[in-house]
Amino acid sequence: MILKSNLGKGEKALEKATTLIPLSKSDKVLLSKIEQEAGTDINLCYQCGKCSAGCPAGFAMDYKPREIIRLLQLDMLDKALNAESIWICATCETCSARCPRGVDIASLMDALRREALKQGRITDKKVANFNKAFLGTVKRFGRTYEPGILLYHNATTMQPFKDAGLGLPMMKRGKMEIFPGKIKGKDEVKQIFIRASELGGEE
Ligand code: SF4
Ligand code: SF4
Repeated sequence: MILKSNLGKGEKALEKATTLIPLSKSDKVLLSKIEQEAGTDINLCYQCGKCSAGCPAGFAMDYKPREIIRLLQLDMLDKALNAESIWICATCETCSARCPRGVDIASLMDALRREALKQGRITDKKVANFNKAFLGTVKRFGRTYEPGILLYHNATTMQPFKDAGLGLPMMKRGKMEIFPGKIKGKDEVKQIFIRASELGGEE
């Protein structure tokens, strides 16, 4: 048995870093509400890391998808809600599709994002603005419209010329359209937003 008094400086620091504080009763309720909203169970995760390995946005995240789940398993809900990862996640669903345990990480990221927004916990306003710009174009045009996202994002983050040089070459290569393309089912997409808002989701 190792006595506490015999621990070295590094070991003490490690012990301190790994001291877990159980969630309060209200946070426990909140965590199960988040799981319920996401329709998934964090305790199914056995930390294989397949989700993180396939995540196209993982390189920019402070906590990879696997780590977000681990934070939640260890009752570190506060850290998960403050993570930049939840704003960087593009909801591409690669993680959910790869998970051998059927954990719907994409949906969990979404539920965490909604809760963080509700609590006003926005670590990076630029990322939150981008999220708003992205959803705004989908709501309006039924699909993403990159020039619209760029204009809204740059105007609301006070950086009018950010990435301006990329637009023209992308348009020339046919990677970006000048005007928003028309799609079928635009009204149905609008209805999805209305329904989501009625259920308490983002406007
Ligand atoms: S792929 Fe699934 S089981 Fe593996 S770490 Fe990610 S969430 Fe956990
Ligand atoms: S849904 Fe989000 S977390 Fe999952 S792979 Fe895509 S970007 Fe990564």
